[in-house]
Amino acid sequence: MMIVMHAHASEEDVQTVLQAVRRRGFQPHLSQGEERVVIGVVGEARRAEPDAFLRLPGVARVVPLSSPYKLASREFHPADRTVAVGGVPIGGRAEPVFMAGPCSVESRSQLLETAHAVKEAGASILRGGAFKPRTSPYSFQGLGERGLELLAEAREATGLPVVTEVMSPERVPLVARYADMLQIGARNMQNYALLRAAGASGKPILLKRGMSATLDELLLAAEYILSSGNENLVLCERGIRTFETATRNTTDINAIPALKARTSLPVILDPSHSTGHWAYVAPIARAAIAAGADGLIVEVHPRPAEALSDGAQSLKPERFARLVAEARAIARAVGRETLREVPHVAAD
Ligand code: PEP
Ligand code: MN
Repeated sequence: MMIVMHAHASEEDVQTVLQAVRRRGFQPHLSQGEERVVIGVVGEARRAEPDAFLRLPGVARVVPLSSPYKLASREFHPADRTVAVGGVPIGGRAEPVFMAGPCSVESRSQLLETAHAVKEAGASILRGGAFKPRTSPYSFQGLGERGLELLAEAREATGLPVVTEVMSPERVPLVARYADMLQIGARNMQNYALLRAAGASGKPILLKRGMSATLDELLLAAEYILSSGNENLVLCERGIRTFETATRNTTDINAIPALKARTSLPVILDPSHSTGHWAYVAPIARAAIAAGADGLIVEVHPRPAEALSDGAQSLKPERFARLVAEARAIARAVGRETLREVPHVAAD
């Protein structure tokens, strides 16, 4: 439920409503619009009594929200949201953002070489896993904190902000010390303790869709982060499990417009994991940009055959550079504004 205040409501009216919301055991969520204040009432919907709020001074309307998620819903927040990562805007009117880098940080030279190459190609955020969720316990698990140090060094060298995965709540403070954006991987989309801990860090978060999760489940996972007070959230489609075995996962292109209908949060695609094969990455990435994605996260490796993880789906830097040019041309063709600078986004 959403309480819409009158344009002329006083600060005191707003405070009275906030107190009334809390007294009834709900969490108020205040949005200061250009003209009026809107207060989201977050909590168990069936206990809400709209009439009680309607009688308070300064209240114009009480609007029920039909979706199970509230703060994530477009009903609650109609305008497209923009999330800034190290000063790079994602979503809203910003041009599509390209996050790129290796699946795993493997060594200093591998990471620095890749970081410079993806920057040259047009990436504005560097990806790289230091803590890796591997299906087999015998596979390379990542360099851990050493990997985070290397990511920080690569940021220093290139100026690119860094996104990297955090796999457990206890590790959030450590990863947040090095990263500009925390990635929550597909396998952890419903790890609610992790969602809360990552949310509480205040860092921008990249939340990947679980491989068997519905869009409603993804948006409810997003709600955990938003309700922890962190609105710097970007959603990522990364392919789902289907009966098809020709590709690693099945890219759910539908998810892009379907998510955008339900939420104003930015939505990007990971065509590397969604296809699992380097040759399919660019075609599917182009489709996602045409479908309205706010960006891509792409695995790039200078020598994919030597990669310690996900070599088969990694692009060489030259191929990635071509993809960026193609994606930008598509974004223009579908009428996406290509603003390099978005005035209303402050660097963090
Ligand atoms: C990754 O980004 O390397 C990764 C493990 O992705 P996902 O969680 O989508 O499988
Ligand atoms: Mn990977």
